[in-house]
Amino acid sequence: MHMTACPYCGSQRTRKWYTYEGDSVNRCSKCDLVFRGCSGDEIAWEEYYRKHYFQDFGEEQEGPGRLVIYGETLDAIDHLVPKGPFFDIGAGSGTLLAMARNRGWTVSGQEISSGSCRLARERYGLELIQEDLKALHLPSETYCAVTMVNILDHLAEPWPLLEKIHRALKPGGVLYIRVPNGSLHSLGLRISDAVLYPPLKEKIQKFFVIHRYHITPRFIRKALGRCGFETVIVRPSVASRGVPYRHFNRDERRVLLALKKVVLPFARALCRVSAGEVMLSPSISIYGIKG
Ligand SMILES: [Zn+2]
Repeated sequence: MHMTACPYCGSQRTRKWYTYEGDSVNRCSKCDLVFRGCSGDEIAWEEYYRKHYFQDFGEEQEGPGRLVIYGETLDAIDHLVPKGPFFDIGAGSGTLLAMARNRGWTVSGQEISSGSCRLARERYGLELIQEDLKALHLPSETYCAVTMVNILDHLAEPWPLLEKIHRALKPGGVLYIRVPNGSLHSLGLRISDAVLYPPLKEKIQKFFVIHRYHITPRFIRKALGRCGFETVIVRPSVASRGVPYRHFNRDERRVLLALKKVVLPFARALCRVSAGEVMLSPSISIYGIKG
């Protein structure tokens, strides 16, 4: 019998769903969190993000194809709250913050990678807080908007951080989170796990991702509700332009571009007709509004 406790709700009602890169990936049937049984210790992970992540993935995360994501994020936030203090968690080299500043927000942010902090200073004159998220102090009822773009599913224990952000927001303030859509990526990786022919399995897996968690719309609605967010909106997220991934070859790039053309409009239509119940976009945008 499988008895790994859920790292969010502590329930024992979990079961192994599939295997990914040698790790077992489990699902909690109580809260819908999908979590990876990660090998390796926390300090090594943190060291990696601090010193090497920028070198390995900085280009992918900060390339021009991402600007469309930042634009969508800011458009939505502009409609939800009046402008004021804006804080970005995992700010990378500061592109989102610089764009927000141009729109009239008063910006600040946190980033653990020293390479990204240096770039934010050189490119945009931004002094990011280079601090671990556990140690990060956010003053109470201060911010109109807090953002986390492609960060949450990388963190070992993001739950206390969500509570910290809720306290730091002004009443009516918004937390914006963007993550890979756990519902879609779990489905893809489960299908690939069932494929026994290794080269084909690897090819399918390339199109899906799991870091530490798969965040599903059902899970995040509950988790943010428990933190005290009065309204939680989950929407299909816009995709980055082109193929920013360095590990894709020419044929894989073609497939991904074709998929983007077909899957995204289909996912949006499906979401609309199901009133948000069926979400199959590659990424989701989550807005938690403090009452
Ligand atoms: Zn759970």
